[in-house]
Amino acid sequence: MTSIDLFPYPKSLVEHDDRIDVANRSLQVNLPAGAGATAGHASTVLQHAWGSGSGAAYPISIEIGPLDVPAEGPAREESYSLELGADGGTIRAENERGAYLAAQTVATLLQNNDGSIPATTVSDWPDLAWRGLYVESKWGPDRMTLDDWKALIDEMGRKKLNTLGIGVYGCWSAQYAKKRTEFLMVPFPDYPDLVTEKTIRYYSPKAETWQTLTYVPTMVEDDIFGEVVAYGVERNVYVRPHFNGPGHNSVLPRYFPEMASLDENGNPKGYGYCLTNDAMYTRLFELFDSVIDRYLAPHGVKWFHMGLDEVWLTAGIDTDDIPKLVDPWCQCENCRDRDKGELLQDYAVRVCSHLKSKGVENITLWDDELRRKDALNETFGKKLADAGLSGNVVVQWWRYGSPVLTPHPVIGVRAWSTPMTGYWSNLFTQSYTANIWDLVTHGVEHGIEGADSYCIYDLAFDRNYALLANITWNTDDRETLYGFKARYAKATLGREIGNIEASTAFANYEEAFGSPGFGTNTLGWLLYYWHTYPAARAVSTYPQNVVNELRTMPGRLVSSIRSAASFATEARDLFAKAYAANPTPLLAEYEAECDKLVGIWEVYTHLLDAANQVDAGARDAALTALEAARTRMVSVMAKLEAVKAQALLPQILRDLSILLRYIERLAEDVSSGGATSFAELPVNHEDLDVEVSTAFEA
Ligand SMILES: [Zn+2]
Repeated sequence: MTSIDLFPYPKSLVEHDDRIDVANRSLQVNLPAGAGATAGHASTVLQHAWGSGSGAAYPISIEIGPLDVPAEGPAREESYSLELGADGGTIRAENERGAYLAAQTVATLLQNNDGSIPATTVSDWPDLAWRGLYVESKWGPDRMTLDDWKALIDEMGRKKLNTLGIGVYGCWSAQYAKKRTEFLMVPFPDYPDLVTEKTIRYYSPKAETWQTLTYVPTMVEDDIFGEVVAYGVERNVYVRPHFNGPGHNSVLPRYFPEMASLDENGNPKGYGYCLTNDAMYTRLFELFDSVIDRYLAPHGVKWFHMGLDEVWLTAGIDTDDIPKLVDPWCQCENCRDRDKGELLQDYAVRVCSHLKSKGVENITLWDDELRRKDALNETFGKKLADAGLSGNVVVQWWRYGSPVLTPHPVIGVRAWSTPMTGYWSNLFTQSYTANIWDLVTHGVEHGIEGADSYCIYDLAFDRNYALLANITWNTDDRETLYGFKARYAKATLGREIGNIEASTAFANYEEAFGSPGFGTNTLGWLLYYWHTYPAARAVSTYPQNVVNELRTMPGRLVSSIRSAASFATEARDLFAKAYAANPTPLLAEYEAECDKLVGIWEVYTHLLDAANQVDAGARDAALTALEAARTRMVSVMAKLEAVKAQALLPQILRDLSILLRYIERLAEDVSSGGATSFAELPVNHEDLDVEVSTAFEA
């Protein structure tokens, strides 16, 4: 019985008494006359899943023809029926997109088969036409190779997700090495020096040495965005570039001063656009056109995301004065007296009009800044309609916490909901099931046509993706969130350790990582990432601040962290038991992520012990505790290094390496004597960021 593995679960699936003898039959796929590339890929998926069985042919015919399903429009194109009998099967769809998804269903049914599978009848269609992921332009995605992107598109096919946003431009405040966090993921041939270089240093337990990486994004280095778009469109995944602005935007206004918002003296601020300057639009459209002409149009892809979130005041823009708050809103004489909401509406309409003139038919944009300015309203809908854009614009209503955000369809613009499916591989892992469930189910009540999630792709977030896939395909209430979780646990490790222990593993996992507020913020505070932001740097230095705060923290708060680590221990041990029975990459991810919390908490326990020993004058005991801290730290890092995707590793290990370096430096300081208290140790007065964020020979 393998149908429990189907995420999403089909609308209708009936298993019959007859068996299909997979082990002793060879698969023969019959394609329809004039079959295109997508049907060809459906055949490849079937062949790969069936394997190299020999014996009499088992024919599966793919037929393109009328189908009796209730779906309409693009959802109808993905609908299919499937009849797998003892001696042959038929896939029927009105479009090759549906045939490709039917092949994915068959492939899942063939997983873990014991030589045969039951004869099965399926009728299936999606409730929401658009379902997908948005992979942000950040550390991790910037190191994904063409093969990584292809593997992601293949994985999206297995989950029947069909839209993939890829961040191509986005900027944030200064974090590491006092440099702004800026990502341009595509090259611009006319501006070869328009690149965002990064340096990451980290300790590799495998190599037993420090590594220094200085690089530009792989997508720029290898110029592969077009190939990713092409690979996706043949496999029912529509790739759309996310090109952010006017917020999250500091590279372009520095490089092209005519685009920049101006201060009261008329000087470019290097953050945000002047929204009334024609020269800004000319330059912006030149850059957009470059992306469309080189990467989208050749493959017939008509999707684009124009950004529009968080156009707000922030620190970390002026690298000579990092705490200074800089406003992205322009103070030129044409902008300063205008209503900001109206400015933003007019900007959106002008950008969308241009994109449509370039053949883009689906333009997505974020809801939040228009909403904050009371500008996501009927007036905006009317402006879009007057410009002939009402069917082309999709507002993405995003929120990754409470309260639930519901779209307001009254403005007459297409709507998607965007929850989060996990984003920080460099923090502790995240369960966003509550956020995904709430945003999509409430969004459906308010008429959304699609949902995608904000993410950095990491296999460790698989349960989040499976839930998103399941409830965007099936928006009815046939399976509750608890039902989904039980089924996911069974599918992931029920065969290995039994369904009861499988559910227990995820129940413990949920206790440790299921609350984004506690898990991401409170537990995450033990790690480096939040401490890299300007506001945090202004008041303290990591990791010394965490050790000091833990030493004076109320016992009940410390208990809550210890308790989370205990739940993670229980979960880790069950994932490890399942992994021993069946070493899948997914089980390794769950085990390693649980061990990360367990291990980091143990490291801090040793550090607190060491601090107390130093203050008690017990130097040898302090050194013993520090040696234990270092050993545990390296073991956490080694496990992650063995498991995590290559693209994600440098950033994950960098954020841990600063803590490792701190432990080593503490031991050096204690050994060399001199200090009579923990607070006096020299390393407690240093910023160790340079050791993980700048290139130097150690
Ligand atoms: Zn202006």
